[in-house]
Parts: sequence; structure tokens; C-alpha cells
Amino acid sequence: MINFEQLARKYDTPLYIYDAEKIMDNYQRFYKAFDVKDLKIHYACKALSNISILKLFKNMGSGLDCVSIQEVRLGLKAGFRPEDIMYTPNNVSEEEFEHAINFGVKINVDNLQMLEYLGMNHPALPLCIRINPHLMAGGNSKISVGHIDSKFGISIHQLPLVNRIVKRLNIPVEGLHVHSGSDILDPDIFIKAAELMFTAAREFEDLTYIDFGSGFKVQYKENGLYTDIEKFGKIFSERFNAFCEEIGKDLTLRFEPGKYMVSEAGYFLAKVNVIKQTTACTFLGIDTGFNHLIRPMFYDAYHKIENISNPTGDKKIYTVVGYICETDTFASDRIINEVRKNDLLVFRNAGAYCFSMSSNYNSRYRPAEVLVYQGEDYLIRKREEFSDLLHNQVIVNLDLMAEPETVLELKDLEVKNK
Ligand SMILES: *Cc1c(COP(=O)(O)O)cnc(C)c1O
Repeated sequence: MINFEQLARKYDTPLYIYDAEKIMDNYQRFYKAFDVKDLKIHYACKALSNISILKLFKNMGSGLDCVSIQEVRLGLKAGFRPEDIMYTPNNVSEEEFEHAINFGVKINVDNLQMLEYLGMNHPALPLCIRINPHLMAGGNSKISVGHIDSKFGISIHQLPLVNRIVKRLNIPVEGLHVHSGSDILDPDIFIKAAELMFTAAREFEDLTYIDFGSGFKVQYKENGLYTDIEKFGKIFSERFNAFCEEIGKDLTLRFEPGKYMVSEAGYFLAKVNVIKQTTACTFLGIDTGFNHLIRPMFYDAYHKIENISNPTGDKKIYTVVGYICETDTFASDRIINEVRKNDLLVFRNAGAYCFSMSSNYNSRYRPAEVLVYQGEDYLIRKREEFSDLLHNQVIVNLDLMAEPETVLELKDLEVKNK
């Protein structure tokens, strides 16, 4: 059990805490759920990209799924071999692809323009092609990326065109990729996508893997839906093995889970500063905001919240809000054990897309991150401080700034700026 109160005393709040053993369990459980000749997991590091977390994945034998050149660099810094990194960007420049190619990582292409460019400029470079299967998946429209209006991937209907480019330029297509969105409610969507991918896969003789992306759902609410990974793994492995047999070739099965690996391994600790009773509700004002955990405001996401300072207290109804100067609601009408000033609240499922989406809005510092392993706690990111806010700011001293009392007319400004 993680001693939240002790960690709050030691590191202060707000604080992100990650349970290394839980991450390791998730990885093992996922790995064991599939029964195929060759399985490769590429952890999608945009979920949680702290270098220490990346190193943990590397030591478990995971590869890495990166969506930006900066994530690639973090992965290399964490010690991943380039060939274990898959670069899957969207709408990036040729220059950024060139960087990735220089690093030697696996390249996943998601538009025809880039396919042509890479085929012309890097003959014989093996590529993976991201297919858009046009299936509606994903928990909400922001994280549903495989439907017909989605900007991701090359349409499955454009396969003839893909084939033309591939044949004309002799592109070795080593992989096909599909990622239909995060938080998929219906696991059958994978099987549907798989059938489409198998049809496409028959066209590419250099193929060595099919990457089915991710979208595995974890439980946020009690009794909430989640992917039964063992059941899914069994059904999916059978279908995949049958396909390999049919084409007479053992392809590698690849997945890129992010949320599944880290969501439930993360906790976010915050302190109650103010309890405000209004005519409508009781607000709990806590020492953080959507600058640190944006999912409730951005995705209407549900995070379970517990009062760990009063675990046996009477249940009350609260609306939990942050300190940001605009509407900043974490939870409305939540039943929580009675809260007193300075009590500690813990948010569950705070491993994925929490710290990695945090910002300095309202000029607040981003929180510290702590990794807990075998009962010991390790600081893996320091809390920011004032100098971090100034870092990279270039302070100019124009003469109009020297006299703050002087109210300048616009025309004066123009003159002085010359
Ligand atoms: C975000 C993303 C993932 C991970 O999705 P989760 O729902 O966090 O598992 C995998 N692959 C790609 C290409 C992604 O963009």
C-alpha cells in the first residue's frame, strides 16, 4: 500500500505518484494474454513520458510508440534501441521525418504525400503504413481517430493508390498499422479492423508485422466498462494465427497500449484549501487545477476521488474544483467522506494523460512526480519553481518599459519601436 500521507509530507502537494509494480503487472498481464509466435508491445509514451517510466518499460522488453521527434529523443535518452522505437506522427514536416530517419527509428507514414516523398528520397527504406479503417471507435469524438472524418491514416479505400505508389517506387512495406482511438467500448471493433487489415495485408509481400495500435479501456468508474484483456487476447490470437497460417508466414503481432499500462498505476494527490458552502452546493477548493489534470474539463473524464485523511467519515456530497481563474471543475456532486480543511484527496487513474498534458497556465508550477517501487519512493521529477517560469523568457529593456508611470500613446510606441 502506498502511504499517501507520508508522501504528501515529504514531497508536498499537488503530487503525482506512480506504482512501478502495478505498471509491471499490467505489462505482464497484457503480454501473457496473447498466444502468438511473435508479440511486440510498443508502449505509447505520450500517456506518461517521464524518462524513469520509459526506462522501466525498456527493462521489461517493451518497445516505444512515439508521436513526435521529441518523444523519439526521450526514448533514445532512456536507452531504447532505435529499431525498438516506432515513429507515428501526424501532419509533421519532411524535415521532422528526416530527423527520425537519421535516428534510425521505424517510420510509420500516415499520408500519401509523405509516402511519395519518402519513396522518392529514401529508396529501399522499409516503411509502415497507417491505415484508416473508417470505423467509429473511441469513447468520445476527441479520442476517436479512425472514423471517416478523421485526419489520421490513409483511407482503406485508397489502397489501390497506395499500391501504385509502393510498386512504382519499390517501397518495402514492412508493416501495416491501425489505431482506431482511445477508450474503445466495444472490443469487437478490433476484430472488425483486423479483418480489413488482413485484406490489405495480402497485398504487401515484404510485410513482417501488423500493428493494431491501442484503445484498450481501463476502469475509471466503479462498475465501469473495461477491456477484458485475457478474453480479447484469446479471440484475437486465434484469428491472427489463422491468418498467418493462411498466408504461410509468421507475422509479428504488435500493439501500442498507453492507457492500459499506466492509467491505474497513477495517483494524484491534492490538498483541500477551502470548503465553500453556497446556496447550491458545497465546493471543495483544492490546491491544483486543470493546469495539472485537464481530463475532466477537456474530455468530461471521470476520476474517482477519495478523502484519504478521513476514510471512515460520514459521506457527503461535494463539487470538487480547482484554483484556476475560470471554470475548473474536477467533479460535480461527488459522494466523498466528510472533508475538513487541509484534508488530502487522491485522484485515481492518474497515470495516463495527466502529467503529460499538464501546463503552466495561471503561471503555476507543474507538480513533482514520484515513483514507488518495493515500498521505497523515488523522486523522478522535481516540482517546478519560479526560475522555471522565467526559463527561456528573454527580458528586453526598451525605454518604454523603463518608466512604468508613463502612459504612452500608440503613436509614441511606434516611434520608439523604430
Ligand atoms: C495515443 C496512441 C496510442 C495509445 O492509446 P491508448 O488509448 O493510450 O492506449 C497508441 N498508438 C497511437 C498511434 C497513438 O496515437
